[in-house]
Amino acid sequence: MGFTRRKLLIGGGGALALGAGAAVLLRGFDDQPERDIPAHVPPELRNAALDVHVHALGTGTGGSGCWMHESFRSSIQVRAGLWCYRLRLSQPDLDQAYIEYLRTRMKRAGFLKQAVLLAMDYSHTAAGQRSAAHTPFFTPNDYVARLARDYAEFLFGASIHPYRPDALDELDRVAAMGAVLVKWIPNVQAIDLRDSRCRAFYGKLAVHKIALLSHAGDEQATFVAGQEYGDPRRLVAPLEEGVTVIAAHAASLGQRDGKSNLQWLTEMISRWPNLYVDTSALTLVTRGRTLRPIIEDSALRARLIHGSDFPLPPAATMYFGSMPLSAWWDSWKRENPLMRDFLLKQALGMPADAYTRGYKVLAPRIRQ
Ligand SMILES: [Zn+2]
Repeated sequence: MGFTRRKLLIGGGGALALGAGAAVLLRGFDDQPERDIPAHVPPELRNAALDVHVHALGTGTGGSGCWMHESFRSSIQVRAGLWCYRLRLSQPDLDQAYIEYLRTRMKRAGFLKQAVLLAMDYSHTAAGQRSAAHTPFFTPNDYVARLARDYAEFLFGASIHPYRPDALDELDRVAAMGAVLVKWIPNVQAIDLRDSRCRAFYGKLAVHKIALLSHAGDEQATFVAGQEYGDPRRLVAPLEEGVTVIAAHAASLGQRDGKSNLQWLTEMISRWPNLYVDTSALTLVTRGRTLRPIIEDSALRARLIHGSDFPLPPAATMYFGSMPLSAWWDSWKRENPLMRDFLLKQALGMPADAYTRGYKVLAPRIRQ
């Protein structure tokens, strides 16, 4: 009995240790300040790049004003995500620790100069009423504007639901606070880009020269109001009004009317000189296979803008065999998600100008 028990204990302890080891492997075990930057970051990209797609989120600690829906908060993606970044939902300084994690990894990654930090407005009903029940998380404009004021490495990405009765006033307000773009996730926030209220919003975006960064294609990450909202063809509405549009994730998920959303978007590129495509989330397990074709498409290639979609975790594992083993291992072992994303994109041939194009596109709003 005692022997069996001891065996069980030893076996259990061994399994636990193995589990802990595997867990560390999952997170990436190499999180040193990147001493090897010269080998990985070409000189022209050192501290030079702009990441246009980085989420600020939290639970409201430290007066941030952030909010998370209960079912989003308890989801495996949030729990696992926070664990990956050594954070806990229960910690009293979670929102501040999240920003600190991001700032240290940006610095250590060696290629980034700045990131556009994104606010996230509530989902709204067709009548323009705020709907917290359909919102996975809310990040206030004021919080992100403050972070952009306090930290030189952040630019202010605002979020305003265009159905809000005060949408146009809020747009003037964020413009005065230095917003460089407005972020929408139409599939989650329930925004029909062709709605007449959006037209007025586009007019004002064009006047302020503020770009629209809009999720394009299907959405799998959070609460979905309808995938049709992500139809890239709907981006024609803001493009027609002269707005600079960045289609997030290159519309790389889903299809409509017999073509992939990516195909629809690719066909629009030659017609719209004010249309750009961000590379965010393209190293996620759900989208990873589309990264190489996107990089190799000559039309898209000239409009790519670097984005990471932090805190979503890039997945190196699936690229095994599709790049030299040393490059694969080098990205796989990293904890720093920004660095892992960069190394994968580099190995797949991301053109260098994608990393700095964000500065050119957002130039009308960036005070140098
Ligand atoms: Zn995103």
